[in-house]
Amino acid sequence: TIAFLNGEYLPLSEARISPMDRGFLFGDGIYEVIPTYAGQPVGLSGHLTRLANGLSAIEIENPFDNVQWKAIVLELAGKNADFIESKNIGVYFHVSRGTDAKRHHAYASNISPTVFAFAFEIPPPQPEAKGDVKGFKVALEEDKRWQRCHIKSTSLLGNVMHYQTGVKAGVDETILFNQQGLITEASSCNVFMVKNGIITTPPLNNELLPGITRQIAIEAFKRAQLPVEEDWFSKEALLEADEVWLTSSSKEVAPVIEVGGHIIGEGNAGRMWEKAIKAYHAYKFIA
Ligand code: PMP
Repeated sequence: TIAFLNGEYLPLSEARISPMDRGFLFGDGIYEVIPTYAGQPVGLSGHLTRLANGLSAIEIENPFDNVQWKAIVLELAGKNADFIESKNIGVYFHVSRGTDAKRHHAYASNISPTVFAFAFEIPPPQPEAKGDVKGFKVALEEDKRWQRCHIKSTSLLGNVMHYQTGVKAGVDETILFNQQGLITEASSCNVFMVKNGIITTPPLNNELLPGITRQIAIEAFKRAQLPVEEDWFSKEALLEADEVWLTSSSKEVAPVIEVGGHIIGEGNAGRMWEKAIKAYHAYKFIA
């Protein structure tokens, strides 16, 4: 497949970065993943705004404007369409602080960011019938990450360790709760629950990533007149929910059928999920 590195398109297998890059040594960088289907991106402006916010939060100058970033998304989706038959293509962006001569913690001011992007296959859009969709099983544990989870940092060790808890338990993801027992998000997704016909997702703060799929989904639900609220809920409330969903750029809105070994609802995708995924599909390309 074809990648992008510091202004050039090249085969991914030929891309080279110095081991003195601060992205490698410190995880000092910001990333994004933008889904595209048959060349059409979803949530592009939201992803580019979050990228700009993340870079600003860690004081890296944004190397490109939105027109340039958009061109990279479309170029990589186009150039890789021959390699990825399904045309369901995620574009990954990574901006690190750059390569320094010495390893020292202080931000160096005389280095320029390393910009890397590549394309990879993502799952197809979710089906709209509950009989056709994969129901996810997840583990549940205390969120042990840092206090800046709103920044899409490439320092993902905390997320990786939480995800691995799920892998070891033989499930697909891990949902996290904070020290107050309130659900924050999952290791690579946002979390929604449904109780008595009301859809709820935690509000944004420093404990969770402002997911672009989350944002598009909330707006799509409002447009479809599905009742949706941003509010905290406990892990006990999660276990007693009628439905639980994960959202992310690759999973869209995905039903969860088991949390920490506890069956959710009737153990399959719910009736509200069917309405939700239809509303999401109807809105995602215009968001
Ligand atoms: N939370 C975390 C921790 C994530 O890594 C992600 C992205 N995979 C999400 C939520 C979902 O964000 P988005 O909808 O923008 O993909």
